[in-house]
Amino acid sequence: MPTALVIAAHPDDGEFGCAGYAARLASQGWDVYFLVTTNGAKGTEDRAMPRERLIAQRVEEQREACRRLGARDVFFLGFEDGELAYTRELVERIVWHLRFLRPQTVLTHDPTDIIIRDSFINHPDHRATGTAALDAVYPTARDHLNFPEHLAAGLEPHKVREVLLWNSNHPNFDVDVTDLVDLKIHALSAHVSQFGKQEDFAAFSRERWRNDDGRYLERFRRLDLQF
Ligand SMILES: [Zn+2]
Repeated sequence: MPTALVIAAHPDDGEFGCAGYAARLASQGWDVYFLVTTNGAKGTEDRAMPRERLIAQRVEEQREACRRLGARDVFFLGFEDGELAYTRELVERIVWHLRFLRPQTVLTHDPTDIIIRDSFINHPDHRATGTAALDAVYPTARDHLNFPEHLAAGLEPHKVREVLLWNSNHPNFDVDVTDLVDLKIHALSAHVSQFGKQEDFAAFSRERWRNDDGRYLERFRRLDLQF
């Protein structure tokens, strides 16, 4: 069965972006993995929360969310939340996981625009993650001359065939996840440190995500990498 890799900046980004589609692939027998680039150490309103406890909690929450979706495993790169920069080290870590997991499909942030739908700013960690993920897919993971230490460790070059970018200004691929919206909310609800105090999180999400025709869509910009 093919493999899909979700590459997200923060714990919960992957679920917002593609939980429905990831769960569908998992239910069809795909091996679905998550890779989270930052340590999730920011964004809490609880000022008394010790930093190390928050990081540990967010790792556990992401693991639980992945279990709920049927993902096989989740990996963490542990870069500092809110300070992620596009570096050769970030690209190397993503290339390593592409060569190790060998996904046919990669799902990640669309990094190409700073402003999305004239309604919000694409977080800099999202842009750094999406840019590094795209560069890792093409050309870096394909060429054995990049990071030759991988080859020495037994990791062969790898070609990803399909990329799906969420939160895009240019979606061209809609997935109807109406039957999966409850599971998506269930997975997001594992992120207790983010949404634990929002009693109406489920109702709010159902309302906000619903299309005019009552359906729920996950919309992606899809790249079919034939070559
Ligand atoms: Zn995020």
